[in-house]
Amino acid sequence: MPRSRKCGECGGSLENKTITHIQPWGEELFRFEEVPASVCVQCGHVWLAAEVSQRIDEIVQGHPKPKKYQKVPVFSLAELAKA
Ligand SMILES: [Zn+2]
Repeated sequence: MPRSRKCGECGGSLENKTITHIQPWGEELFRFEEVPASVCVQCGHVWLAAEVSQRIDEIVQGHPKPKKYQKVPVFSLAELAKA
């Protein structure tokens, strides 16, 4: 990937990783596996390449048949965030 190898959040260095990405869409969550991403070794921020997030948008908006269904438990830490 010929792009900046620095985290835009903290300036830490980025590592190429394959991650599981959860994409919220309205009330639903879409789970993507084996997503190529750059992950900051310092703050853990996940950076998706433009073409990757574009592909995810396309998939989510197209509502295709997923490879498999999996229930995803959702927890909110909104209360902690306010403290
Ligand atoms: Zn960072």
